[in-house]
Amino acid sequence: MLALDKVCAGYGRMRILHDIDLRLGEGEIVALVGANGAGKTTTLRTVCGMLRPLSGTITFDGAPTAGRRPDQLVRDGLVHVPEDRALFGTLTVEENLRMGAWTRSAAQAEKSLREVYELFPVLAERRTQIAQTFSGGQQQMLAIARALMAGPRLLMLDEPSTGLSPKLTWTMLEAVRRIRDGGVAVLLVEQNAKQALAIADRAYVLESGSTVLEGTGEELSGSAEVRKAYLGL
Ligand code: ATP
Repeated sequence: MLALDKVCAGYGRMRILHDIDLRLGEGEIVALVGANGAGKTTTLRTVCGMLRPLSGTITFDGAPTAGRRPDQLVRDGLVHVPEDRALFGTLTVEENLRMGAWTRSAAQAEKSLREVYELFPVLAERRTQIAQTFSGGQQQMLAIARALMAGPRLLMLDEPSTGLSPKLTWTMLEAVRRIRDGGVAVLLVEQNAKQALAIADRAYVLESGSTVLEGTGEELSGSAEVRKAYLGL
């Protein structure tokens, strides 16, 4: 569904990503783990069209993404939840959710609204609450739910565990698994490698802008190198 071939990208003249190769299939959770500054966020920004690759190819659903704007990629089913969540703080939960459905018909939006309320019952209970009064965990759920309102086929999540307790992180990752079970593929960026690898079908380790290891979540959590460098074991 998503393929990166020798993708190089950066900011201005500064090259951050070097020859990134990555594959993600239908219905997979693929985790991208690595230390602070390894280039995980830059990878997501490049895939969603906010940054243009300096070289290499990104293919989504069999067609290159080059030349497609971020909003076109959203219509095509590729939706990104940035690390800062970018909620509309002064709007209610339901208003935020409806904003997420800007590409959809009214009927599709109503269907998705029912689905996200089922996935995150707390959002249904608090549908009239102003988003900025939410806790970190609830804001993260709202950001993911708003992305689902666009009807993605691939959801890209940037550090969804930021600011969450370990217990809330598990709740949120459990929701990610249910999203995958509902047929949406997920590219999950996490510094919290242990939890990300526990739910990932496959994972890549990014180091200084290059993918240095690849394997199933289980293989990488068992790898001595990963355990030492990223799991603190
Ligand atoms: P983090 O967990 O800290 O977000 P990361 O793996 O997501 O880490 P990136 O945010 O992709 O890493 O950052 C990779 C490198 O790119 C870092 O050296 C960072 O300083 C640099 N960088 C990030 N954003 C910009 C920007 N807008 N302009 C210039 N350099 C940037």
